[in-house]
Amino acid sequence: MIWFRFFPRQQRCDLTALDAAQEPGHSHAMRPDLLNPLFASVTSLAGIGPKLSVALTKLLKASESAEPAVVGDLLFHLPSGLIDRRNRPTIMDAAEGALSTIEVHVDGHEPPPRGNRRIPYKIKVSDDSGEMVIVYFRGQSRWLEAQYPLGETIFVSGKVEWFNGRPNMVHPDHVVPQDKLHELPLVEPVYPLVASLSLKVLSKSINTALQTLPRLPEWIEDGMLQRQHWPDMAQALDQVHHPRDQLDISPDSNAWKRLAYDELLAGQLALGMVRSRMKKSAGKSWAGDGRKQNAILSALPFELTGAQKRSVAEIQADIAHPERMLRLLQGDVGSGKTAVALLACATAIEAGGQAALMAPTEVLARQHMATIEPLASAASINVAVLTGREKGKTRQDIYDRLANGEIDLLIGTHALFQSNVTFKNLALGIVDEQHRFGVHQRLALASKGGAADILVMTATPIPRTLVLTFFGDMDVSKLDEKPAHRLPIQTNALSLERLDELVERIRQAVARGDKIYWLCPLVEDSEELPVMSAETRFKSLQELFGQNVGLVHGRMKPAEKDTAMLDFKEGKTRILVATTVIEVGVDVPDATIMVIEHAERFGLAQLHQLRGRVGRGDKPSSCLLLYKAPLGTIASDRIRIMRDTEDGFRIAEEDLKLRGEGEILGTRQSGTPGFHIARMEFHGELLEMARDDARLILHEDPELATPRGQALRVLLYLQSKDEAVRLLRAG
Ligand code: ADP
Ligand code: MG
Repeated sequence: MIWFRFFPRQQRCDLTALDAAQEPGHSHAMRPDLLNPLFASVTSLAGIGPKLSVALTKLLKASESAEPAVVGDLLFHLPSGLIDRRNRPTIMDAAEGALSTIEVHVDGHEPPPRGNRRIPYKIKVSDDSGEMVIVYFRGQSRWLEAQYPLGETIFVSGKVEWFNGRPNMVHPDHVVPQDKLHELPLVEPVYPLVASLSLKVLSKSINTALQTLPRLPEWIEDGMLQRQHWPDMAQALDQVHHPRDQLDISPDSNAWKRLAYDELLAGQLALGMVRSRMKKSAGKSWAGDGRKQNAILSALPFELTGAQKRSVAEIQADIAHPERMLRLLQGDVGSGKTAVALLACATAIEAGGQAALMAPTEVLARQHMATIEPLASAASINVAVLTGREKGKTRQDIYDRLANGEIDLLIGTHALFQSNVTFKNLALGIVDEQHRFGVHQRLALASKGGAADILVMTATPIPRTLVLTFFGDMDVSKLDEKPAHRLPIQTNALSLERLDELVERIRQAVARGDKIYWLCPLVEDSEELPVMSAETRFKSLQELFGQNVGLVHGRMKPAEKDTAMLDFKEGKTRILVATTVIEVGVDVPDATIMVIEHAERFGLAQLHQLRGRVGRGDKPSSCLLLYKAPLGTIASDRIRIMRDTEDGFRIAEEDLKLRGEGEILGTRQSGTPGFHIARMEFHGELLEMARDDARLILHEDPELATPRGQALRVLLYLQSKDEAVRLLRAG
């Protein structure tokens, strides 16, 4: 069921691959029978046929999903708002446009003249305060006469509109006889919809689904239920689908919280199980003698920061420990993760193992290679690089030298995953800028080495809640200290109308010998978007600055990219027009100006990453956010925050407030679905609780064998965490 799945599909496969006990085709064999009604197709419900099923699948499943929606999908499709019919005015008190339920007397019918369907059917009604006309376009006389019996009193509920001082109600939503007021839903939930589906039909389907809900064992601990005043799952679902007021459908309600907690607990439990399984499968300890490390330390042109030293020590302790390392190295842009990574590799290599460093882009992999190679050679470490570009004999040669252990450190892109890449003895796998990959790649790399330690490096300063959500209970090392002598970056916002002023500033900067990045959102002009492209900006700057301008973007050939980067690094060009290929990791320490054109089109985390490309050297730097007026509120909020702070963690928190969490991790594009019910802005605390709960459960009942353990298995299946339960089986 999509609403719970937060592992991307590929990871499910990888987990499966890790689990030799798994037979294909029997993925649900172990699911308890009592959940069957919830995993049955929606067509198993009365009143839902193939056509409606298609519409429901469109609504309830991610677009790429081929599986039809199941009953459970309906249950966990929660309301987004309310229709409130509790307002009961008299006719004359009914406000224009307001939803009103009014008790009226039926005074007369006024059908349109025969054959003239363009004139509406009118019904005159009244109460003590005055008269009102009920209007039906193309109304059926017979039906309307039954609904509005002449001389009787009824309730109508709908929007009142005033024309020329006279109240009208066009097509009331509900009409009920006086004694049937209780049948009128005074408060109705509203759900997110798709075009092919009406609210009425969806509500009815959800109600039918609710009736099939089986009785499930309680998996939340009793004490917690009581302390939190949480209802059981069935009550919680009933409450959110039959709300009495706004509070019932708020993520703050006890019902919603309970459902969110279920989702979070299942997630934390599954991550915890994967983690303990990975740890169990390990069991090598690698002790280095410190020689290669010392060689690197003396070759580095700087002294490590305190945070770097601490992180290196933490990683080394993990590597030396027989348990498998699963560690996240979090450090803002420019905090010096590369040096930490290299020192970690040195430890593994000293002990006779191999190391792999995986970067998200080719540009980055090559840059790592360029930075690391001289340092590695000072420590007699053999390095090679492997990306899509190495072909034929060169590639085969790398494979061979990797398999016979000649290569100590392999740097590359996702090419490192390919099945013909075999290490002799992989001891440490490092994934740089993790959020670009998705969690599954971490596991794929892990499967390359029987028991390789894993270090995940992330440049996006992920708030703690998100670390928990996406990485589970990983150990975390933080580079919370910038290398010394960093000067603050002066950030300014500038409307495109003032481009001339900016060009003048750039002219002076070029004359001084400064280096400037100029970022554009697109590679080439697009018909859909009125946005400056890198190619067009490159041409216009070239007219002004000639040979001083370079260009790099993702559609260039790899060799052209390298040349462009190198020319800029060496100062042959002074202005580098680029797309976001340079967003992550690129390091040209003496670049001091970052111009971001169409800053309004970039997310906050991305702006921060981009700005981090400057301010790395000892010269003062600036960042110019060039925007196209008028700015929307979110865009101007982002720009304000960028001017206010350089603190990556604060920026990430603000970003979380402005946008969904999936986007912060950059997972939107790669399709990792977020949570369905839990919302980090409301349920961050619940996540911590779920983490602690899961930890305690796995400590006390690692096989989920106790009665509560059995109930938790039901939860895991309910939340489509079948893989996790399978890990239990595989032991
Ligand atoms: P990150 O990958 O964390 O964004 P890098 O590893 O690319 O950062 O380092 C950013 C820059 O800071 C590089 O130019 C690097 O040489 C430099 N650097 C790293 N550590 C230190 C330090 N302790 N002192 C001074 N400069 C450092
Ligand atoms: Mg980096």
